Amino acid sequence: EPGAETFRYESDITRLRSLVIHSLYSHKDVFLRELLSNANDALEKLRLTSLTDRDVMKAGEANVTIEVRLDEGGKTGKLVIRDTGIGMSKDELARNLGTIARSGTSEFLKRAEEGGGADGNLIGQFGLGFYSCFLVSPTVRVSSLPPVTSSNPNPIQHTFVSTSSGDSFEVFPDPRGNTLGRGTEIVLDIQEDEKEWLSTSRLKGLIDKHSTFSTTFPIYMLERKTTRVPVEAPQSPPADGDDDELNDDADTDNKTPEAFETVVDEEWLRVNDKAPIWMREPKDVPDEEYEEFYKAVSKDPTAETLGWAHFKGDTGSGVSYRAIMYIPAKLPKDFWQKITSGVNNVRLMVKRVFITDDLGEEYMPRWLSFLKVTVDADDLPLNVSRETLQNHRFLQQLQRILVRKAIDLFTRLATDEPEKYKEVSKLYGNALRIGMLESQKDKIKIAKLLRFESTRSDYTSLEEYVDNRKEGQKQIYYMAGVGEKAEDLARSPFVEKLKARGYEVLLLNLPSDEPMMGALSNFMGMQTQDVSKKGLKYGDEDEHEAEKKELDAQKVAFAPLIDWLKKELSSQISDVVLTNRLVTSPCTIVVDSMGWSANMARIMAAQMG
Ligand code: ADP
Ligand code: MG
Repeated sequence: EPGAETFRYESDITRLRSLVIHSLYSHKDVFLRELLSNANDALEKLRLTSLTDRDVMKAGEANVTIEVRLDEGGKTGKLVIRDTGIGMSKDELARNLGTIARSGTSEFLKRAEEGGGADGNLIGQFGLGFYSCFLVSPTVRVSSLPPVTSSNPNPIQHTFVSTSSGDSFEVFPDPRGNTLGRGTEIVLDIQEDEKEWLSTSRLKGLIDKHSTFSTTFPIYMLERKTTRVPVEAPQSPPADGDDDELNDDADTDNKTPEAFETVVDEEWLRVNDKAPIWMREPKDVPDEEYEEFYKAVSKDPTAETLGWAHFKGDTGSGVSYRAIMYIPAKLPKDFWQKITSGVNNVRLMVKRVFITDDLGEEYMPRWLSFLKVTVDADDLPLNVSRETLQNHRFLQQLQRILVRKAIDLFTRLATDEPEKYKEVSKLYGNALRIGMLESQKDKIKIAKLLRFESTRSDYTSLEEYVDNRKEGQKQIYYMAGVGEKAEDLARSPFVEKLKARGYEVLLLNLPSDEPMMGALSNFMGMQTQDVSKKGLKYGDEDEHEAEKKELDAQKVAFAPLIDWLKKELSSQISDVVLTNRLVTSPCTIVVDSMGWSANMARIMAAQMG
């Protein structure tokens, strides 16, 4: 082509491309999802840019659509995908499609090579989507024209051409000129043995499956209809008025056998015409569609969810919103990273249009950062800067709404779907504990959601604990040891005496357990009590009057020994007391109730190095 410049792919790109092609061999259909998701991204970028640069979307160019079409109904083997989005300049074509400067690429290579291949999940998360078009097409041609802006008043349409095997690509001014108006056109030359993609119904099925949820801009498809229409017989010259009737009859009689011709009608039809799932009424949405939508927002065709909440509301400040919130069935890879950085998974849309997914922790507290949420607000101003948006009343209310809905969702699962909730508790128990620690307002509600092992059960709640308390019992007993097995904790001398007397003791081994119990301090009228600390009270003291008398007698008898111990150990300990808390051990060291327990002391020591 005239003016063509040849670029070499960066060596990593060549590696990457072959990795993608190789690993996705049995998931070839992702190519369409990836190209449509790029088109959608390009339209979103255009919209965002137009908020600050008024020239970008001038009247008449405001159409924001994606088009999919088979050239000549598929006869030429060409599949064309076109968007009216942000487009790419010559440099951008070379850079975005040919170099590794994009974020995440080298990270992707590392992970894929460590993990022995890349799955659809990795591809989606790292957005290496473009190369998936080589799965079905040996040659790819991308033509693109950026919008007219104040800084770029005369953009020129350029074309990028690459083959799946070569290690270089070409970029040149499009010989057709600026035909696109604005945006990007991708032409795939479908491979001989990939003809299945040259069918509109196959493509429509794929768009339905992958893209109705994730693509918010309208997708149109050029549909061909062939009809056979009768060829009209040549008109006989009109006869004289008198014989009208006769003539008509004669006409019919004389008609030669009808001839037909085939007429091809082409028509653009909207494919994704269903309202997005969050805009529909929950009762009209089958579970499978919620599950599909979850895969779409996760960009992972294998992703599963433990439960969701679909809700709408009106904030009183005049904003009505709809939202869907999901609990992932797998701990997200960056779970702790998100908790510490405050990055979350909330996607904010306004009137169906994506606005941002980098709302900070003011909108979703860290401990809930693992939830995947889509929020669509109806009456937020669309054309204001993000800064103004952030001061909007609705957004200030958003965190409260999301936290409340999340707690409701957990509570509902705990009662209605105990098996699923068990999984939630296993995966997110630590996060819930942190939530309890950090949210004074919801402390008790969250405490009810926590599950523990105990001397009585391997899965119990505080409410159950209180229900099972012994008559007169005033404290919730717990023994904590980070990372220790419940059965080992149960063997501690502190626990054994309580167990022997018929009390249940919670056995806690998560890092967040002990601070959480300390912060809870009181639940349904019962104090929490670390059994390794001072302050432990039995509720059955009266029943054990005899035991008490015996203890009093022993106090007198052992007074000289205790006095001697206090004197001898005065530099190491603060007190020596006679106790009835032990069954088989002769003595134990107890931490002052205001001091750190041995466990906490270990945590602190570890942290302070
Ligand atoms: P990702 O979408 O995650 O960035 P891709 O490989 O899918 O990765 O696309 C690479 C880059 O190419 C995109 O980031 C974008 O800059 C550019 N690009 C791809 N398709 C289009 C398009 N239709 N319009 C504009 N830019 C595009
Ligand atoms: Mg992409």
